[in-house]
Order: sequence, then structure tokens, then C-alpha cells
Amino acid sequence: MSTADEIARLVEPTGGRFGEFGGQYVAETLMPAIGELEVAWRAARSDPDFWSEVDALLEDYVGRPSRLYRAARLSAEVGAQVFLKREDLNHTGAHKINNCIGQAVLARRMGKRRLIAETGAGQHGVATATVAALFALPCEIYMGAEDVVRQSLNVERMRLLGATVHPVESGTRTLKDAMNEALRDWVTNVGDTFYLIGSVAGPHPYPWMVRDLQSVIGREAMAQIYAAVGRMPDALVACVGGGSNAAGLFAPFVDDENVKLVGVEAAGDGVETGRHAATLTAGRVGVLHGSKSYVLTHEDDERMGQIAHAHSISAGLDYPGVGPEHAAWKASGRATYLARTDDQALAALERLARTEGILCALETAHAIAALDEVAASVGKDGIIIVGLSGRGDKDMVTVAQRRSTPGQVP
Ligand SMILES: *Cc1c(COP(=O)(O)O)cnc(C)c1O
Repeated sequence: MSTADEIARLVEPTGGRFGEFGGQYVAETLMPAIGELEVAWRAARSDPDFWSEVDALLEDYVGRPSRLYRAARLSAEVGAQVFLKREDLNHTGAHKINNCIGQAVLARRMGKRRLIAETGAGQHGVATATVAALFALPCEIYMGAEDVVRQSLNVERMRLLGATVHPVESGTRTLKDAMNEALRDWVTNVGDTFYLIGSVAGPHPYPWMVRDLQSVIGREAMAQIYAAVGRMPDALVACVGGGSNAAGLFAPFVDDENVKLVGVEAAGDGVETGRHAATLTAGRVGVLHGSKSYVLTHEDDERMGQIAHAHSISAGLDYPGVGPEHAAWKASGRATYLARTDDQALAALERLARTEGILCALETAHAIAALDEVAASVGKDGIIIVGLSGRGDKDMVTVAQRRSTPGQVP
């Protein structure tokens, strides 16, 4: 089957919504731009030429397909058959490049001459700067001033790749402010600018488009698990920040009710402490960055109802919103969402390193930390595919500091 045919089977949001979630809650001035993007995406998604261009780059440049690796020693420890979908082996070390390649090809088709993006920890900024270099497009990245300081290595990477990094001084000077600033740039420069969003967040059509582009993870995994064991898996597990690696893994399996879908959020210091990023677990329905979903808000002081600051040891899960399709999967019961703390994630990172010789990202470690619970529900012959969203090199300083002073987030 061609990629366009596979994509055509994935759920389309009706009226820009997944159930009651999603939509386009944006300023009037942005409507023409997202309308143009929606039309362009609808045409590209069913166009075999678009996908042959994307697929060729994913193969030649990113190094796809990524491996589906049977983790024998980890399987023995957790008591289930565990397979790891190795997005950490992609060029740039995580799944984010899949989405960036697709949106860059779309930008070129639309005749846009300039890429902009928001970034939190800097991973999406680096992936965007990478494709901008590849496509010879000027690139400007909005990043909270706080994050610019905390993630100086990624700022240097983006600059080496030719991007301009704009520190954002408004609000809490973090990801949500960077995204507001990028949206503002887009309003001002709609004619020539393409806004490349990094997760399944933002107004329609972004959650739909980014999920389709990341579905290469799940589409490959489905073929690979069939080749390996001749049947569908019993469960899929992935970490959820904005939710793009999880949505990409889950989407092709959604119709098969026998496949459990488990998303794992960051519980930070513990959901009960209020210092966490477990949006689906402990947030409420609200609107952020143009779409209706779950959000984290202040509840117990004069900032009541305002967006709260998310906390996690893994910068990539540190977002006070979550993609609307996850909110819909939670509402329908199709997917289950768990939360794991900083300490549990660190222990899981150590466990994967010790059993399999793989240093995963701290984000990914949250998914690994849920394996015991998921294994108990599928049994020792049960097959679990874990989305190994990224490699851990970027986190080694954080991990080293935390191991020497337990309980402290640097
Ligand atoms: C950015 C990132 C995440 C979180 O983003 P999602 O959109 O939820 O996938 C997870 N893992 C890694 C390695 C990341 O870089």
C-alpha cells in the first residue's frame, strides 16, 4: 500500500475537531493563514507526489525505517515481550525530525520562503533549524529567555545550523510564551512565512497534520511487529508532552480495540505537589494556543484559571497543554494516561541503560517507567511496543547532577 493510502485510513477531524476538542481559537487576523494551511495540507495528504518526496528524505536523510528492537533482558525483568521503536536512532536523535521534514516539504510546495518555530528545551528548534539548512530556507526560532539560558547547548546548535534565535522575555519566559510570540510573528508575516509547530498542539490543522506526519512511527511498527511475531501487539506505550510521538505511534492502531494505548505524562515532583506536567491526569478542559484540550491552570490563588507553569525533569514534557486528539482518546476511553515522577523516570533510564545498553532521553524514560504496570495487564506472553522517542545524550548533565544530589532538579 502507498503512503497516501495508509494516511487516508487515519481518522480525519470533523469540522477541525476530535470529538469536542481541537478547533481554531485564534485571532481573526490569523484565520486566512490557517485556512490556507488547511487547504494545502488536505491536498498534500492525498497526493502521492508529496509523500514520495517526504518518504525519500525520511529514508536518505533521517535514516528510516527506524528499528523495532526486541529488548530481551528488559522483557525478562518486566514480565512481558517488550519491543522498542528506536526513534533515538534518527538523524538529530529523536522523532521530531519526522514532522519537520514533512512540514518543510509542505512549506516549499506552498512557496513559503521563511520558516519560524517555537521551542522549549530546544529539541524542536534544532530539528527545524536542521531542515531549514537542508532546504536552504532562512529560519527564526522563538525560545523563552529562561530556556535560552537553561539550554545553551541547543541554542548554539541552532545558531551553527544557521538559524536566528529570539529570546522571549514575556510571561514566564518559557515555551508557552515562545509559542505566543511565534503566532504573533506569523500574523505579521503570513505572506511568506511558514510556522512549523513541533507537536500535535495549536489550532487545526496542526494537530491533524503533525499526527499524520508522525504516524510513520506507528505505520512502520505495525509492519515490523507482523514480520517479527505475526500478530498485532497487546499494548503500545509512549510518553506524552504535547503528544506527537505517542499520537504517531497510536494512530494506525486506533481501530483495533484489542490494542491497548497507554500514554505516560510527567508527574514531576508528584501530581499531589502541584509541580508536574500531567495535563490529562490532573488538568482541566480549556483553551491554549488556539485549540481546546486539557490545560494546567492555577486553581488556588488570585491567578485562578490562568495557565500554570508545568514542571518536569525532562524539558520536552514540560508543556501545560496537550494535543486535542489525546483529550478525545481520554474522553472516549480509547487510550489510558498514566503519570510518572522525576525519580521514577530517572530509575527507568538507569534500568534501560543497565539491561539493554541504551541511554534514552528523560522524556522517553517516563514511558519505560510505566512498563511494569502495563506488563502486569498483558501478561508474560503479551507484546508491548514502547515508543523510544529519543536518545539521552542531551540529558547527561541533568542526570549526573540529579544522581549526585537526589531530589534536586537542576
Ligand atoms: C519533544 C520530545 C518529547 C515530547 O514531545 P511529544 O510531542 O509529546 O512527543 C518526547 N521525547 C523526546 C525525546 C522529545 O524530544
